[in-house]
Amino acid sequence: MAWYPGAQKLELQPESDAQPAIIPTQLIFHSIAAPWTPARTYEYWRETNLESHFGLGYDGSLAQYIGTQTRADANYQANRRPDGTGAVSVESASNMDATDPWSPAQVEALIRLGVWVHQQHSIPLRICRTAADPGYGYHRLFPEWSAGGTACPGDARVRQFHDVVFPGIVARATGQTPAPTPPEFDVPYTLGEYTGTTVSLPPNIWTTLTLGRLDLVAGAQSYTATAYLTVKAPVGGVLQGRFYHHRADGSRWDGPIVERATTDGSSFVDFTHAGSISTGETARFEITYAPANATDTAPATITAARARGLYWK
Ligand SMILES: [Zn+2]
Repeated sequence: MAWYPGAQKLELQPESDAQPAIIPTQLIFHSIAAPWTPARTYEYWRETNLESHFGLGYDGSLAQYIGTQTRADANYQANRRPDGTGAVSVESASNMDATDPWSPAQVEALIRLGVWVHQQHSIPLRICRTAADPGYGYHRLFPEWSAGGTACPGDARVRQFHDVVFPGIVARATGQTPAPTPPEFDVPYTLGEYTGTTVSLPPNIWTTLTLGRLDLVAGAQSYTATAYLTVKAPVGGVLQGRFYHHRADGSRWDGPIVERATTDGSSFVDFTHAGSISTGETARFEITYAPANATDTAPATITAARARGLYWK
């Protein structure tokens, strides 16, 4: 039996062991006429002798109750035909009348599942032409798929099947459109570096700082970063800082310069940049100091430095 890695496994017994094997040749979409989570649908299937292979929540969460090479009883004669072929079924949360459209998260989850059954079970990328024809369909498409007829999955979702879901499966499976970055992979990495190493800044020279590390952001696509510095220098001087992108061939892209004035005692200054970064580039930070008195040759002194930020790979 096959379990979809994109779904939470909530195995239904005794059906999972007791029901006969199928060769999956179809994927049939349903609405369950209840706004249920996959876990709630699992509870419901445990109380009945019906079940689908998959259950889909409004938020796109998906559970699998039975392996796709085992019969599930949601599509009447399509569950398992005399030749051993059968349909994989997916129930989806809906309103009580099954009149609402699939949510964007449901559409995306159905497209992904549709691509997986194509790859896993070689289900052909077409809409079923007859009740036993391999391909994709929705519950009411053929009377043989329900005992006594059904409106499932509802008019709005039948339209979405034709306009969005099935074309989306075809496009994704044939590589015509890339999969969007799923939200769960959008969690950023954290930049958090500190150094108490003293650094001298001679006047009017750009100095690249090692804020715990030289390459503050590497192997990323975008980032936001701030350098927080504690600086000792006479009041009235100017600190200019900027992030830049360093490339392997030694060339660079310079970010905008940010300017801060030195104050009495220690100065606490910050420099922020947010940007995107190309493959192979790293983000570094550099600073230059201009004393209040142009003839002053004494360096400013950095006594502590922090780098804080977020970046996305
Ligand atoms: Zn149905």
